[in-house]
Amino acid sequence: MPTETRTTCPYCGVGCGVIARREDDGQVSVKGDPDHPANFGRLCSKGSALAETIDLDGRLLTPKIGGEAVEWDTALDLVAERFSRTIAEHGPDSVAFYVSGQILTEDYYVANKLMKGFIGSANIDTNSRLCMSSSVAGHRRAFGSDTVPGTYEDIELADLVVLTGSNLAWCHPVIYQRLAAAKQARPLMKVVVIDPRRTMTCDIADLHLAIRPDGDVALFMGLLAHLVKAGRIDEAYIGAHTTGFAEAFEKTASLTNADLIEATGLPAMQIREFFRLFEATEKVVTCYSQGVNQSESGTDKVNAIINCHLATGRIGRPGMGPFSLTGQPNAMGGREVGGLANMLAAHMALESAGDRDRVQRFWNSPIIADKPGLKAVDIFRAVADGRIKAIWIMATNPVVSLPEADLVRAALAACPFVVVSDILEKTDTTAFAHVLLPSLGWGEKDGTVTNSERRMSRQRAFLSAPGDAKTDWWQMAEMGRRMGFGKAFGWRNAAEVFAEHAALSAFENNGSRDFDIGAFADIEPDAYDDLKPVQWPQRVGQQQVETRFFADGRFYHADGKARFIAVEAAVQAAPTNTFILNTGRVRDHWHTMTRTGKSARLSTHLAEPFVEIHPADADRLGIRAAELVEVASPHGRVLLRALVTPRQAQGNLFAPIHWNDQFASNARVGSVIKAVTDPFSGQPASKMARVTAAPY
Ligand code: SF4
Repeated sequence: MPTETRTTCPYCGVGCGVIARREDDGQVSVKGDPDHPANFGRLCSKGSALAETIDLDGRLLTPKIGGEAVEWDTALDLVAERFSRTIAEHGPDSVAFYVSGQILTEDYYVANKLMKGFIGSANIDTNSRLCMSSSVAGHRRAFGSDTVPGTYEDIELADLVVLTGSNLAWCHPVIYQRLAAAKQARPLMKVVVIDPRRTMTCDIADLHLAIRPDGDVALFMGLLAHLVKAGRIDEAYIGAHTTGFAEAFEKTASLTNADLIEATGLPAMQIREFFRLFEATEKVVTCYSQGVNQSESGTDKVNAIINCHLATGRIGRPGMGPFSLTGQPNAMGGREVGGLANMLAAHMALESAGDRDRVQRFWNSPIIADKPGLKAVDIFRAVADGRIKAIWIMATNPVVSLPEADLVRAALAACPFVVVSDILEKTDTTAFAHVLLPSLGWGEKDGTVTNSERRMSRQRAFLSAPGDAKTDWWQMAEMGRRMGFGKAFGWRNAAEVFAEHAALSAFENNGSRDFDIGAFADIEPDAYDDLKPVQWPQRVGQQQVETRFFADGRFYHADGKARFIAVEAAVQAAPTNTFILNTGRVRDHWHTMTRTGKSARLSTHLAEPFVEIHPADADRLGIRAAELVEVASPHGRVLLRALVTPRQAQGNLFAPIHWNDQFASNARVGSVIKAVTDPFSGQPASKMARVTAAPY
C-alpha cells in the first residue's frame, strides 16, 4: 500500500509542511501539506523537487577511517579516544564542534550538552552563525531574550511591509507567495524593498530603495529622528515599557540630511517617501534577513530597526513588529538548545552564573562551560594556528561556505584530527576528514525543526536507513558514552531527547524566560510521532497558545522593559578601483548544492556560477555578457560568467554562494571574502567583500 507521511521541508527557514508519498515500488513524490500553518499547501521550486534529491548516488554508507570502511564501534572508539586524549593533554578548549542549521533540534541538543556540560568548553558553533546571529544579538540587546515577536500572519495583516536585506521571492519563496496573495487581496497594502539590487522581490514593491551597502543603520536612524519630528512616536509606550530612548534619539542628532543621503546613497525624495509611509501606517512589519545580518554592523542594523518599532509601540500586536527571517530550516531550533558558542541551552545565558548553575544541576553534569567559546570564523582560525587540535564537523561544508575559504581548507588540511558527519562521501570538506561518519538524510530521520515564526514541526522518516547511516544525535550520544558520561547520554529514541529538551526549558522557569515548551516534558513516543506543528511557548498548564510575544509590553530584561540601543551610522568610503561584492542565494539552489545539485530540473534555472555586473562597469572593464570574469581579492580568486544587468548598482557585484569544486572549477565565492565580522554577533560580513573584477 502506498504510504503518505507528513514531514517538513529541509531547506529554508519558512519551514513548509510536506506530504511525502511512497508508492509500493519505492517511488516517492511530494506535495505541500494543506494543513501546515507555514505554507497551507504551497511549496516552492526547491521543495517541489525534494523527491529528485533523495537517491543514494554519492552517499556515504559506512564509517570510514583514512578512506577505509570500518565498523561503527571502531570509528567511534577512535573519535572518543582522540578527543579524550586531546582534552587531557591540552584542555577542553583544544577541541571544537562545528555543526549546522540543517541538523534537527535533537541532534543540536545532544551536541550542545556534550560540549558545554561534559567536555566543559563552549567551543560549539554552527553555520547558523553565518545566517542569523546578528538577529540573536540584536534581540537579546533589545528584548533581553532571543525572541521573534510575531508570526507569518502578521506579514499578511500589515498595511505596510518593509523588506530590508531580503530577496524574499527567491530566499523565502512561500512567504513571498503569501505576501503577494495578501497584497493582491488588499491592493492598498504597500511593500517597500530596501536592497542595493533590484531583485525579483521588487516585482511587488511599491517602492524600491536601492540603498548603498550597509546604509541601513543610517536609514533607520533617520527614520527614528523623522518619527520624533513628525510627532508620531508613542510616548506613553516608550515611558511604560522601554528605557534608553533619549540616548538612542540623541545619536540621531549627529546625522545630518547630507549624511543620510551620503550613507544611504538614496535620493532625498525616496527617503521622504519611505519615512512618510512608515509614519502614516500603524500596521507595519519590517522583515529583515541576510542583507541586514551579514554585515560588520549587522547587530546595530537589527537594533536600528527595532528602535523604530519600539518608538511607535508597533510590536506584539497583529500586523506589526520587526521580523527576522531565518535562513535555515532549523537555525531557530539550534538557538533553542544553545547551539551557539555564546549561548546556553533553552535560551539561558552563558554569562549568567545563575543560568549556568541551573543548567548544570538539570544535567547533573560534572562541569559547565563558563565563558563563551569560539565563534565560527574564530574556530577555524584556531584550527589554523593550532589552538584547536581536534574538530568534529556535522552537516555543513565550511570549505565552501565560510569566508576566507582557502584558509579554512588549509587549516583542516593541517589539523591533527578531523571528524566529519555527512550524508555524502565526497564534499569539499569531507576530503580532509580522518574519520567520516555516515548520517541519515531528509526522509530517513526523525526529529523536530523550528521555523522563523517559532513553529516547531516534525521531520519524519519515510525511507529506511541506507547502509550503516545513523542519526547525528546518536553519534554524539555514543561519543558521550565512550567518554565516560553514560548515564547522561542514554536516550533510546529522538522522543526521549526532545522530552529532556522540553523539561529543561521549563526547569525553574516560571515565565521568566521566553523559551518554554514544558508542556512536552513528559511526551511519549506515540504523542511525539503525532506532534502537530505548534508555536512556542507551550508552557505547562497553558490554556491558550500565545502567538505573539510582548503584547503585554513585558520584556525579558530584569526590569521587564525593552531597551533602545544607541547605534551609530557608518558612512562607507566610496569604492575606488575595487567593487563591493554582495553574495547570496539563487532561487533553485541550496547552500553548497550537495542536495539541489542532484536535480537536473533545479539546475536549469541558473546553470552556472555567475557574477552580476552593471553595464557601465562591464563597458569600462571590457567585460562582455557571458564572458568569464576573474573576481579576486587578497584571499582568493574565482572565475564566474558575466551577467551584465542594470539590476546591479554601479560599483557593486553580486555572486551566488552555491557553486563549489564539486560542480565548477574556481567558483567557491567564499574564498574571496575577507573574514571580517560583526563585533557583537561574530557574523561574517559576507555581503560586503572588496574585490577586483577583470575579463579572464
Ligand atoms: Fe522549502 Fe523554503 Fe521552499 Fe518552503 S519556501 S518549500 S521551506 S525551500
